[in-house]
Amino acid sequence: MQNWRSELNRLCVLLSLAAVIGYAVGHVSWVMLVSLCIYYLYNLYQLRRFNLWLNRDSSESDSEPPESFGLWGDIFDGIYRLQKQERRASSYLANIIDKAQESSAALEMAVVMINKQGNLDWWNFAAEKLLGLQHPKDRNQSVTNLIRNPSFAEYFHSESYDETLKIEAPGESNKILEFQIALFGENERLMIVRDITQLHRLESMRKDFVGNVSHELGTPITVIKGYLEAMLDNLDELDAKWHKPMQQMQQHSMRMENIVRDLLVLSSLETKGLTKTQDAIELPSFFSEIENDTQQMFKDKAHTFELVCPPSLVIVGKRSELYSAISNLVVNAAKYTPAGGHIILSAEIGADSLNIAVADNGIGIESHHLPRLTERFYRIDESRSSDTGGTGLGLAIVKHILARHEAELEIQSKYGEGSCFICKLPLSRAASHSAADN
Ligand code: ADP
Repeated sequence: MQNWRSELNRLCVLLSLAAVIGYAVGHVSWVMLVSLCIYYLYNLYQLRRFNLWLNRDSSESDSEPPESFGLWGDIFDGIYRLQKQERRASSYLANIIDKAQESSAALEMAVVMINKQGNLDWWNFAAEKLLGLQHPKDRNQSVTNLIRNPSFAEYFHSESYDETLKIEAPGESNKILEFQIALFGENERLMIVRDITQLHRLESMRKDFVGNVSHELGTPITVIKGYLEAMLDNLDELDAKWHKPMQQMQQHSMRMENIVRDLLVLSSLETKGLTKTQDAIELPSFFSEIENDTQQMFKDKAHTFELVCPPSLVIVGKRSELYSAISNLVVNAAKYTPAGGHIILSAEIGADSLNIAVADNGIGIESHHLPRLTERFYRIDESRSSDTGGTGLGLAIVKHILARHEAELEIQSKYGEGSCFICKLPLSRAASHSAADN
């Protein structure tokens, strides 16, 4: 601002001097015109220097501006300062980018940046090893062309990346990769890929082990149980001191049989995928069947059952699995409700899910147990659970079956008042009677 004012002063002084000289020589306007031309030529000269300096060679990009004074000196210095600031900021950013690239190059997991058109933008070294990407040939290639797998294409275009995708590595069927995508910026994607072959192998070894052990234990337990039953049938032939141990042995062998049975169910749920062909299940008759079976099992408790269900409601799913899940909940309701209790089995179509609920007015559950109830072998009261023949695996089975039907389990309970277990199935699994017939 200061220099701007002195530039104006300088112009005023020049014009006044020209006016005085012009007056003295008798050609005021000519002298003023000549002096304005000189002033204009001076500015033109400064503009040329400025232009030459701005367009200087990139090798001398940090060369100092030409020496100047007044307003032009200000302009040169100001631009030079801005250029220095920008150079500092871009070298700082380049440094950060270099570090990010160096650290991601050292990672064992592949990191791939994909632009909004779905083409590869950048990737680290691990991506070349895991996915076979080649630099720079694959730059700007469509990611779904390079990773040719229908599940990957479906996952990539779904834009819902809450879950990871596990598939075989492109061209290597013995390698399992886990893909995780995150959206950022303007529909750009960051894709992280991990080699989980080892983890996958261990997991299937664990599943096989549980399956095999449960299977192998089946026969010895049946034999032991058989002999125990035969001996208990002839209890009076035994010494009285053996009566109680024999009964306990029978009770525990029954529990062991239940555990083995539940472990086998869990292991087959874990290893077998849900078959494509599914059943249309008419809920009213399905509910009656579960009610009858449970009443048979708990005849002595004389519970009252109430079934609430729209008469034409049909759900689509694996009948045997859904039977096992819902009957597990109803059996639990009967187990943990004192004699004469009331159990309600209901179904309703909610705003965003089809809800199947099992409610009882039994002993209820303290709230701190609720988050852990579906864990394997989690039991609130071991002695009570073993009295009822419980294994602590029932709710884990329910949760697994529901997950296979894209459903969730919600548990509400008040200690001493009762519990309600709600299976929330997606609305796409609901159909009406007439629709199911077509
Ligand atoms: P269990 O075979 O022991 O019944 P579950 O996995 O089915 O195992 O249930 C886990 C625990 O949850 C049970 O030990 C029981 O204490 C509690 N529980 C389940 N259902 C009910 C219910 N309807 N009322 C009260 N407690 C329940």
